[in-house]
Amino acid sequence: MNAIGLYLHIPYCLHKCGYCDFNSHNINEAEMEPYVRALLTEMEHYGQAAGDRRVDTIFFGGGTPTTLPFADLARILKACHQHFKVDPEAEITCEANPATIPQSDLKELREAGFNRLSIGVQSFDSDELKQLERVHSVDEVFLTVERARQGGFDNLSLDLMFGLPDQTVDRWQDNLKQALGLNPDHLSAYNLTIETGTVFHKQQAQGHLVMPSDDFQRELYEITIDTLTGAGYEPYEISNYARPGKRCRHNLNYWTNGEYLGLGAGASSFLNDERFKNVNLPARYIAQIGESQTAVESRETPNRRQRMGEAVMLGLRLREGLRLATFEQQFGTSFHQAFGDTVTRLAGMGLLEINDGRAVLTREGLFLADSVIVEFITEPEQVT
Ligand code: SF4
Repeated sequence: MNAIGLYLHIPYCLHKCGYCDFNSHNINEAEMEPYVRALLTEMEHYGQAAGDRRVDTIFFGGGTPTTLPFADLARILKACHQHFKVDPEAEITCEANPATIPQSDLKELREAGFNRLSIGVQSFDSDELKQLERVHSVDEVFLTVERARQGGFDNLSLDLMFGLPDQTVDRWQDNLKQALGLNPDHLSAYNLTIETGTVFHKQQAQGHLVMPSDDFQRELYEITIDTLTGAGYEPYEISNYARPGKRCRHNLNYWTNGEYLGLGAGASSFLNDERFKNVNLPARYIAQIGESQTAVESRETPNRRQRMGEAVMLGLRLREGLRLATFEQQFGTSFHQAFGDTVTRLAGMGLLEINDGRAVLTREGLFLADSVIVEFITEPEQVT
């Protein structure tokens, strides 16, 4: 039986950042212990649904998982081992915000079994951190990385953000330089996007926040690819770069259409050809788990056409692209039969190429990935 990824959502943050549209909520001390108990109950429930599947990646994401006491993170991880068949070589990641680390000994997390830390740095510039409403300082980033290495983490990822209002080429290059100076094993560099419903969205609508031009954002993206590739990192996904052997296995499972189980408020799952998602609000999640051990608010079984679109959407995110033989094997029809018109059009625009049995986005296509990928979701049925 195939392996699955396990995702655990910890929805609490010290402060809601202005750009954030994740399911995150300000810390609520009174709610956190009941939340952990609800997570453990939900886990016990799904331990059986997973059957004989091996869990080969576990990811604690958020929110900010490190807002929980480390003893609670260890307790939850221990329960994962009790209820699921966790592979002894599993990749076990915890996301961390540098503001939650300075007083902590990360050895405790490492000894509990976490073997990968993903640190939300975003910027090495104090003004940019302030602009993003991040609550940590640049010094706390350095301290967190130092503590992580001292604690025994040999798989560290740093998250960075580019395309900020007023960001200059020099400032972004300095961010990359400082990140590389910390010798991370993995880097994620995301282009800031303004999502509906965020504080930034409101500020933009009021004219208080002006985003850089597309051309400038593209220039920063090109600099990112060139700088990180030049420093020995493999650009393996639109926004992700890894030292050899350090690609994020948990996210690769998503991008290759693997099965996963998400536990916690707002978490999504894909299991037995069904997609389902939990309620977002932590208080509602706790209440529903108390009543019925589950908190699912929506379920869907994608039809063949939707699954084909999703496979392409995910596969094109990877720099290696979508393997056409795998597509054909999975759906019993060739990629060209299913998407011939779209492929011809996108190839003609220089956004997509077919190389060595794979469909791959060009550099131009990578920068415009969101709008290219959507073409495969909306294309009318061609398959007979
Ligand atoms: S720390 Fe992350 S999850 Fe929390 S509010 Fe900021 S961006 Fe959102």
